Amino acid sequence: MPEGDTVWRTAKHLDQALTGRVLTRTDFRVPAFATLDLSGQPVNGTIARGKHLLTRIGDDHTLHTHLKMEGSWHLYRPTTSWRRPVHEARVVLHTEEWHAVGFALGITEVIPREDEVDAVGHLGPDLLGPDWDEQEALRRLGADPLRPIGEALLDQRNLAGVGNMYKAELCFLAGVHHDTPVGEVPDLRRMVRRAKQVLEANKERVQQATTGDLRRGKQLWVYARGRQSCLRCGTRIAYDENGGRPAYWCPVCQPLRTDSRP
Ligand SMILES: [Zn+2]
Repeated sequence: MPEGDTVWRTAKHLDQALTGRVLTRTDFRVPAFATLDLSGQPVNGTIARGKHLLTRIGDDHTLHTHLKMEGSWHLYRPTTSWRRPVHEARVVLHTEEWHAVGFALGITEVIPREDEVDAVGHLGPDLLGPDWDEQEALRRLGADPLRPIGEALLDQRNLAGVGNMYKAELCFLAGVHHDTPVGEVPDLRRMVRRAKQVLEANKERVQQATTGDLRRGKQLWVYARGRQSCLRCGTRIAYDENGGRPAYWCPVCQPLRTDSRP
């Protein structure tokens, strides 16, 4: 699942390629918009809001997309062949210079510009957004102190941008098991600051790292490292399939804190 920094970079690439260009053809391969034609309209920009992408077309329309689990946007020169199967394409935006193809998107919808707030208004402060607000993110996280911290970090209404990978890494860095209640996390502010630091550090690069080491196999502390040795203490990393959202943690470095009271 893409993390907020991946979505941020996708928005940047789409923005650089399409903004100011006129669409020569549009192809919406989802039933609700199959007959919509926005050709002749200029693209006015693409921004990321948490893990949502908003591509503004003309004065009135916004293409709202979300990568969900498997989605990606690719940019191709008009004569280049696609690197993903044609049947996975949900939308194709043609300009003279680029064909932007959204594959396997979880959300593909064209909405009136003024309805953007309905699409993304529920999101908490965006870790990579211009409106990032640490205090508000802390307030939202802290509103439910009994909720497991892993779940609370993934809830985009608390703060926007953390996916399953950073959830695992942030819990490791904070020394807490992901089922630790929010109220028992020793320094929640530090954890939130670290989330911002990690996403900022990775937003410009393809290879994400939380260890500061970009070498293969050394980039992450626990995520996707089930049964391998903890890079800090050598213990085997624990792994839980967790219904398609696998969890990873070091049983020694990340004790489950259920109640700190004696
Ligand atoms: Zn460890």
